[in-house]
Amino acid sequence: MKVLIVGAGGVGRVAAYKCAEMVDSVDELMLASRTQSKCDDIAGDIEKRLGRKVQTAKVDADQTSEMAALIRDFQPGLVVNLALPYQDLTIMDACLETGVHYLDTANYEPRDNPKFEYHWQWAYHERFEKAGLMALLGSGFDPGVTNVFCAHAAANHFDEIDTIDIIDCNAGDHGLPFATNFNPEINIREITQPGRWWNRDHWAEVEAMSVHQSFDFPEGIGPKEIYLLYHEEMESLSKHLDVNKIRFWMTFSEKYLTHLRVLENVGMTSIEPVQFRGESIAPLEFLKAVLPEPSSLGPLTKGKTCIGCLVKGKKDGKDKTYYIYNVCDHQEAYKETGAQAISYTTGVPAAIGAKMMIDGHWMRPGVWNMEQFESAPFLKELNERGLPWIETELGDFPIPESETIAVGAS
Ligand code: NDP
Repeated sequence: MKVLIVGAGGVGRVAAYKCAEMVDSVDELMLASRTQSKCDDIAGDIEKRLGRKVQTAKVDADQTSEMAALIRDFQPGLVVNLALPYQDLTIMDACLETGVHYLDTANYEPRDNPKFEYHWQWAYHERFEKAGLMALLGSGFDPGVTNVFCAHAAANHFDEIDTIDIIDCNAGDHGLPFATNFNPEINIREITQPGRWWNRDHWAEVEAMSVHQSFDFPEGIGPKEIYLLYHEEMESLSKHLDVNKIRFWMTFSEKYLTHLRVLENVGMTSIEPVQFRGESIAPLEFLKAVLPEPSSLGPLTKGKTCIGCLVKGKKDGKDKTYYIYNVCDHQEAYKETGAQAISYTTGVPAAIGAKMMIDGHWMRPGVWNMEQFESAPFLKELNERGLPWIETELGDFPIPESETIAVGAS
């Protein structure tokens, strides 16, 4: 199948690299983005490293008509959307208009309202189904691999699941005072929201970053402070799996949090436009323009990521605690693809998701989340394409049932 990747950031680079390696599944590859020179740089690098040609194009994916024209011209079977969440719906519309399958790694959110919710994209289900097309949502690491880890745990390791804790650790250091490892605007919109978690039949809400505790990560990473956040995969997992509680945690360094607090306090993380020299600008968009591009962190970042799911429940009448995770090394990722581990851990699953669709393992008309498919073929590819996973059964639950969560939640 011909594949069109949209978005030439860190994630687009890795996905293009991995799709270029999939010679049996991907016949021809095109990388298109707002800035064509970025596509050309990546295509040149892939040709040097793998000897495979990647075509490039300029597109404004906010414009459905531009996207549709590019699709008609290149005639891909699948569009892999690795631009920003704002473009999800215009690209889905273009796919419907031209009869092409769709995949992304982040759910749609309106520019003026930082709400990470699936309902906008789930509303396309019938239209995709009727057209005989598939849309695979959230095929990154989290969401993405974490959804597959949960589906695998539910199908193979538990009779009943009580709690899922998704825990995302970036123990890498780029040496800069403040930078984000993926798009700064999307990253800061995400972490300045109130923390929310699924509690049996409702969402409990806590003040942003107010609930945290220590978690001892494996493979020499050691104990780190993890913070409770809202993250989009909890919405689909709470709908598709029978689970009492789902929480999402992420590590942040003290240095990162101090910078973030200052930026928040002076209003630089706001998306409300202000007038400046006769122009209306959102402070967060300006902040993005002055922060380092995530793709520039590749050569600087050392250390590892560890992202996984800690699942607690019952098997054969006995309590069970199970942990499934991947550890990815920033420098190894950079050596292989020219991008650091955050881009790598997202771009590899995007390419594997594409392969699942192209090879027919996961081809079903409609709009779907990752946990709605059989996990085995995806997990096999993860092991073979640079993100091996490890599963362990733990004697004790290493995250105590925190009092703060019960007290702070509403
Ligand atoms: P970057 O900001 O580095 O890259 C985004 C790219 O999209 C840029 O090249 C940008 O172009 C391009 N782009 C933006 N708007 C448009 C447009 N209107 N038309 C065409 N191209 C456009 O982001 P990342 O690579 O870090 O992240 C990519 C996506 O992956 C994001 O949606 C992010 O939320 C998601 N993600 C998902 C994760 C997961 O685990 N599920 C984890 C990390 C990221 P230009 O260079 O010209 O600005």
